[in-house]
Amino acid sequence: MTQPVSHSTAASTDASGLLRQLLQAVESRVRFDRHLGRPGYLAAVQPEDPAAALARIRAELGECTRCRLHQSRTRIVFGAGSPCARLLFVGEGPGEDEDREGLPFVGKAGKLLTNIIENGMKLKRAECYIANVVKSRPPQNRTPSPDEIAACFPFLEAQLRAIRPEVIVALGAVAAHALLHTEAPISRLRGQWAQWQGIPVMPTFHPSYLLRNESAKRLVWEDIQKVMALLAKERD
Ligand code: URA
Repeated sequence: MTQPVSHSTAASTDASGLLRQLLQAVESRVRFDRHLGRPGYLAAVQPEDPAAALARIRAELGECTRCRLHQSRTRIVFGAGSPCARLLFVGEGPGEDEDREGLPFVGKAGKLLTNIIENGMKLKRAECYIANVVKSRPPQNRTPSPDEIAACFPFLEAQLRAIRPEVIVALGAVAAHALLHTEAPISRLRGQWAQWQGIPVMPTFHPSYLLRNESAKRLVWEDIQKVMALLAKERD
């Protein structure tokens, strides 16, 4: 004889059936979003892999024509280094050498930056990440204009969110002003810890400035030592 189905059993069967249907609907929506290249709901619980996030941001940037700098550039300089970097440097924008090679800080100022990283900090350049506020070279290396910075800045922010380094070093006034939303002179900002979305930022002079002002190297070295101390503390 078949047992009569109690109301409570029928209700729980209905509820578990509904729940199963709901889970199937969510699963198929997540699969659909993934297929379209959207992170889907799982992004909230599973942070995106930094390398994959950087590749997605680079693809979004594309052959960018969002500002006038695209008219005179040779190559976009997106950024370079480790997606898992603990230390991230932000410069102003590509110069002539960077524009030709498509890589950040490869000219004279870049050699000085590499020297600071490798001989001063005893780190490998490749284990850091290096990016710029604008990704296309301003003609004659002029300072990028506010609208050019505004067009490019969301991509730098996306890079910073993808990597979430332990420390950011802002090289020069353009980087410090963009990250910290201030117009205070770099001579006043340098050496003082600030923050970008909870990440410590150390503003310091740009390596190009050091090439013209040898005496400022001592101050940059003081700033870099603060960065090294914080990285050492975080490691403990
Ligand atoms: N100066 C910058 O600010 N960035 C570079 O990539 C090169 C020089």
